[in-house]
Amino acid sequence: MALGRAADRPRAAPGHCAGQEGWLASPQIRMTRGIPMTEQRKLGFDTLQIHAGAAPDPATGARQVPIYQSTSYVFKDADHAARLFGLEEVGYIYSRLTNPTVSALADRLCALEGGAGAVCCSSGHAAQIMALFPLMGPGCNVVVSTRLYGGSVTQFSQTIKRFGWSARFVDFDDLDAIAAAVDDDTRAIFCESISNPGGYITDLPEVAKLADRVGLPLIVDNTLATPYLCNPIAQGATLVVHSTTKYLTGNGTVTGGAVIDSGKFDWSASGKFPSLAAPEPAYHGLNFHEALGAMAFTFHSIAVGLRDLGMTMNPQAAHYTLMGVETLSLRMARHVANTEKVASWLEADPRIDRVTWAGLPSSPWHHRVAKVTPKGAGALFTVGVKGGYDACVKLVDSLQLFSHVANLGDTRSLIIHPASTTHRQLTADQQMAAGAEADLVRLSIGIEDPEDLIADLDRALDIATAG
Ligand SMILES: *Cc1c(COP(=O)(O)O)cnc(C)c1O
Repeated sequence: MALGRAADRPRAAPGHCAGQEGWLASPQIRMTRGIPMTEQRKLGFDTLQIHAGAAPDPATGARQVPIYQSTSYVFKDADHAARLFGLEEVGYIYSRLTNPTVSALADRLCALEGGAGAVCCSSGHAAQIMALFPLMGPGCNVVVSTRLYGGSVTQFSQTIKRFGWSARFVDFDDLDAIAAAVDDDTRAIFCESISNPGGYITDLPEVAKLADRVGLPLIVDNTLATPYLCNPIAQGATLVVHSTTKYLTGNGTVTGGAVIDSGKFDWSASGKFPSLAAPEPAYHGLNFHEALGAMAFTFHSIAVGLRDLGMTMNPQAAHYTLMGVETLSLRMARHVANTEKVASWLEADPRIDRVTWAGLPSSPWHHRVAKVTPKGAGALFTVGVKGGYDACVKLVDSLQLFSHVANLGDTRSLIIHPASTTHRQLTADQQMAAGAEADLVRLSIGIEDPEDLIADLDRALDIATAG
């Protein structure tokens, strides 16, 4: 075999420690660096967010996960190299495919989401392409919610057409409309658990039941909820995608993404997923589902997806995100508690027209909180300001603690006017359907003292609505 191609093959997939049997031989065995999966199931969220994927470094004993800033890994000898090239032994070859620091993060996110396998990639948008890539082909479509992050609306409505894929946008509160949009060429159903920018909550268990009925995988973007507030896999999702740029990293330092596979979807049942469940020509005819069972999607994502699309996360980014995930539950609880205070204060204020946070009893989505996001409705929502567009712009410019940025899920509070920024590429109808009307600002509530946030808003609203 050609050396170059062989070197591109994966040896260490997430969940497969060096020293285990060949990955083809034992695809179902998951070890998270010293914590076997069966043990992980017994550990609580706060323990897993620190320990999953991160036993002491076997080479040095380093207690924190080292940043393995290396593109390649030396073979012990010619025989070792031959075994690696023959896929008879597990290890690392090349960091476009797998890297120990990045694998530690993939293992940790996999444990927190309750998945079978996970891959990290370079951004949330990369994760969305990586999630669709093994499922789609030219002529295939994905049925997606109208309530999505603006960048995702553009990615799905425009850019994926270049691959011969298409998206059908549907109001996900209308289950009949979702079912009606599905046809023989549909390969997936896609939505956000809590949606950007309005903070609406999708009825995941019902959408999952529908996906099950029509035999399609449900992909859930869980960026705004994080696994702390919502477990899409437990509610029936097949794949979970993340922009790790947001709450998982938590302080606005690095972009990244992840795809976590539940391992529960039967890729062979319908004949619709030949890349996973028929001989894959891009990988010398391997039938991934037959050979790897529940790890089929994850191995395909490494062996074909990362190998050929190259949307790899770098080890520095993985390091920052591993640090962030260690305090995820603490931060999310505070984000939600602060949002409760700020959103309630805003709703009662006469200068405000409406507040969309689903945690408020007035929200039409409030009844879904207990079912879908039991620990809280997140910390992102929109506010309609009396005075419309002009007042929104003045508000954004008058705040001092809130930063005017195109990001969310930071420790610090952020504000943006979606209609002129994140949702700017959308038509007016798309803006309306996405909950990004011109008179709305989007707030991402941080973990500062809530009294200070309210004082900042109070002062800036005075300026914004004066005269
Ligand atoms: C930010 C975001 C994305 C895109 O993630 P990037 O890391 O910016 O590529 C996707 N979905 C949601 C819900 C987001 O907030």
